[in-house]
Formats: sequence, structure tokens, C-alpha cells
Amino acid sequence: MPTETDEEIKQYEGFKNVTLGNVIRARTTEPPNYLSKTDQELFMKYHIPALELQTGLHELLGHGSGKLFQKDKDGKLNFDCETVLHLETSQKVASWYEEGENYHSVFGSVSSPYEECRAECVGLYLCTVPDVLR
Ligand SMILES: [Zn+2]
Repeated sequence: MPTETDEEIKQYEGFKNVTLGNVIRARTTEPPNYLSKTDQELFMKYHIPALELQTGLHELLGHGSGKLFQKDKDGKLNFDCETVLHLETSQKVASWYEEGENYHSVFGSVSSPYEECRAECVGLYLCTVPDVLR
């Protein structure tokens, strides 16, 4: 049986992640001096829960979302190419990862920074969604 890569395990099985709450809580003990007194109070009241929320969204939904469209060794796609539409163009998906390719092999040295930016965008965007804040 071939050994699964971390990416394959993540795609098909899922993944675990941890947040070190004590690290988050230890980050800031003084409010930024460039804020007004009122904003400093708001900052000190909300910065830890806000950072915990953003970090959770970054890790769980940012890194945990985004199925890779792939073709297997038998030429079978792991998605329905007749019904799945490209999110930006609303056209049928026209490209995918070939057998043996993965995110890191295709994007090389920019794959990790790009993945972090993707996860960060997901976290920051979702922080503003009222249902998430509730
Ligand atoms: Zn990350």
C-alpha cells in the first residue's frame, strides 16, 4: 500500500489543529498608545476574544476548506465536472491537479505563503460576519 502524503490525508481524512490559548492571552498586556482612551478600553476588552475567533477561523476554516480538484491514476475526477462551477466565472471547472500533483508540487516555494494568505483572508473575512460573531 502506498504511503499517503500529509496533503492526501488532509484531503480525504481531515486534519487536526491546535490553538495555544495561553500564547494568545500572553500577547498584549498594555493597550497601543496610539489609540484614544476609549479605544484603548475597547481594545483591552475585546482583543483576546477577537484574536481567538480570528485564529480559530484561520486554522479551522481557512486551512480546513478548499477541496483540491484532482484526477486519479484511472483518469477519474474527484468532483462532478458537469455540475461543479468555477466560483468566479460560473463556467465548468476546466483544470485540476493531475495524478501525483498536489498544491505544494504545483506552486512550489510560494505554496506555503499563499496558503497562509488564503487562510488569513478566510479568518479576517469571517470575523465580520454577524452569524460568526454570534
Ligand atoms: Zn495558517
